Amino acid sequence: MDIKKLIRKNILDLKPYTSARDIYNNPSGILLDANENNLGSTFDEIDGLNLNRYPDPHQNDLRKLAELNFGIKKENLFFGVGSDEIIDLLIRIFCEPEKNNVIIPEPTYGMYKVSCDINNVETRSVLLTDEFQIDEKAIGKVCDEKTKIIFLCSPNNPTGNLLKKNDVLSLCENFNTIIIVDEAYIDFSEAESLANEISAHPNLIVLRTFSKAWGLAGARVGFCAANEEIINYLFKVKAPYNISALSRYALKKALDNVDKRQEYVSKIKKERTRLKNQFESSAGIIKVFDSDANFLLVKVRDAKDFQRKLFDEGIIVRDRSSQPKLEGCVRISIGTEEENDLLWSAVQN
Ligand SMILES: *Cc1c(COP(=O)(O)O)cnc(C)c1O
Repeated sequence: MDIKKLIRKNILDLKPYTSARDIYNNPSGILLDANENNLGSTFDEIDGLNLNRYPDPHQNDLRKLAELNFGIKKENLFFGVGSDEIIDLLIRIFCEPEKNNVIIPEPTYGMYKVSCDINNVETRSVLLTDEFQIDEKAIGKVCDEKTKIIFLCSPNNPTGNLLKKNDVLSLCENFNTIIIVDEAYIDFSEAESLANEISAHPNLIVLRTFSKAWGLAGARVGFCAANEEIINYLFKVKAPYNISALSRYALKKALDNVDKRQEYVSKIKKERTRLKNQFESSAGIIKVFDSDANFLLVKVRDAKDFQRKLFDEGIIVRDRSSQPKLEGCVRISIGTEEENDLLWSAVQN
């Protein structure tokens, strides 16, 4: 498969922004090339955090750390300002506005379509099966020579289920498009990341984020694993210093604290089971879907009414009932033990 053929011509031809530090390969010495403030920073309260300097545009620090922690080679990694930035960059690398199209099996995460809309790229919606799995035939029907990307989410938001690995790999093999698998919730499942499959499937891109299991939504850091050619295009188009030194600092500290992440994930999974059992005993809840994520999708008689009732008790949940196949469905994040107790009392009222 020739990835180059999928890349927009203006991106193939693009001469990326370079800094003097690229020419000299990250030199040390008297740095008078980037108009920084060499005297210091007005915020200097964190030792070793030199906010007066631009951070490494090649993300070598982050990529080495991720290689160590996730077992994915540095060459196959790219960091973005959340996975949302990577979604946008990928659309811009592959899709010619008003010409190409993107396939989105639904119900799923809303940002894929919003990001395509912003870039003026057509989206083609197809349905997942009744079990919220990939319907390859349905995708085949709307796919044409103008299709560049198929967006998948596993575990899927808001349905909570994993997609079958073989279905995803079958798409990679049978479609001459980029296949993006968003694994924002993979930490809450027992499944292995599909990042292990990128060497066998050059058109596969796996998105990961630090916003969920790692509890770093406010730091805005996500990454993707893909073949080196795609990674190089991402580096070509990104803003030179997209990941701030503050976010890098937070990430380094977080990765030193893997035990904490493990503790959070275990607690959330335990609470997920407890809430699911409670909800299943509730007369007001018609169905609780299985979840491999940090939320539960529940089906109730009237989603709007259910949401309003919880709101009156000070609890905010997400009404997903307007999405296809999700009539009466509400998505509820797993909170702390105390929050879940309050939620359960409110549901029983
Ligand atoms: C929460 C979420 C993300 C995370 O986005 P960030 O920009 O990394 O915070 C990505 N994909 C899905 C499906 C999500 O639900």
